[in-house]
Amino acid sequence: MNILEADYIYIDGEYITHKAIAFDDKIKTIDTKEKLLELYPNASVHHTPPNSIIYPGFINTHVHLEFSSNQTTLSYGSFVPWLGSVMANTSKTSSCSSNAMQEACKEMLTSGITTFGAVSSHGIDLEVCTQTPQRVVYFNEIIGSNDNMVEANYDSFEQRIKMSQKYTSDIFIPAVAVHSAYSTHKILVEKAISYAKENQLLLSAHLLESHSEREWLTTASGEFCEFYKKFLGVEKPANTLDEFIKAFDDTATHFVHCVQATKEELDMLAAKGHSIAHCPRSNRMLGCGRLSIENIKAPLSIATDGLSSNWSLNIIGELRAALMMHYDIPLHELSMQLINNITSIPAKIFGLNCGMIAPGKLADLCVITLPDKPSSLKEIALWTILHTHKATKVYIGGKQYV
Ligand SMILES: [Zn+2]
Repeated sequence: MNILEADYIYIDGEYITHKAIAFDDKIKTIDTKEKLLELYPNASVHHTPPNSIIYPGFINTHVHLEFSSNQTTLSYGSFVPWLGSVMANTSKTSSCSSNAMQEACKEMLTSGITTFGAVSSHGIDLEVCTQTPQRVVYFNEIIGSNDNMVEANYDSFEQRIKMSQKYTSDIFIPAVAVHSAYSTHKILVEKAISYAKENQLLLSAHLLESHSEREWLTTASGEFCEFYKKFLGVEKPANTLDEFIKAFDDTATHFVHCVQATKEELDMLAAKGHSIAHCPRSNRMLGCGRLSIENIKAPLSIATDGLSSNWSLNIIGELRAALMMHYDIPLHELSMQLINNITSIPAKIFGLNCGMIAPGKLADLCVITLPDKPSSLKEIALWTILHTHKATKVYIGGKQYV
């Protein structure tokens, strides 16, 4: 048994003082250190520096590890030119080294991320994801809009997902990702959703990331039109927007981006039981615009996306960007909300028994240390986002990794 004490513990949206947590792989009891030592006299006590806060381990629901080594390769500022630069550099972008992917996992870990959702396009990140200490929801991606390649693209997906399912465990959870409405043939969309349903796997898909995507799906025109002709010899979209969204109707899905969704579409996603991942820095890098998070009723996570559209996988940095991007939402209210967007809410989205500090929850914890004593408990969420960068300690399933 371990006892972890700190000046503050984040429980149910509040910062509790003068308490400690007793845990093995799960959280057992929350009480004063003295009471916990009476209950568990042989426990080892873990101390933290002054002004530390124990948070539930942070959750990053959307990252592409395979795109971790192209910092000065891709063209930023606008979505379609960026996609073109990804396609033009496939040899570079699809041959990421294990070392670069391990570094990416480490960067997440040191920023307090104890669970991440990795979208895998090629399966080259499988080994790294089965060996990293974090919990990984491993989204095997299906992609390909060409009629003649449907079978080959499904076979590739099936091979990768079956391989990943061999590693299924408490900390490695295979799942399904449909790349997007513009890039995935409707037969592949249907088959991937069926596979997820039959195997009871989590499902994710990019949706309405850019203005060009919306234009292409709804009017078969715009920048994507040129792009598809040039790269793939295709003249009409793989799906209409409505039929694509409808295909997911009875399967709760974690939709990524949704920046260009209308208020009605966002309401409809919520009504159908879907959730949304918001990647503020990626959206800015690719010129996609601002997601109206104030209009979202669906469960919302904040995620980093991959290093192909971000300069860092540090989740606290991502919250700082969100705080600046959504300048109309009251500062303290948004700060509190953002902490929940990387803890309790994504845990529910992924159906994991973590993301909260309560007896019976997995002992996935991170300790964040403020540079000075906070003047009020109400401001701690804001001070955390503004003034911290790395976790002081990180525990996953009760084991300490930082
Ligand atoms: Zn993505």
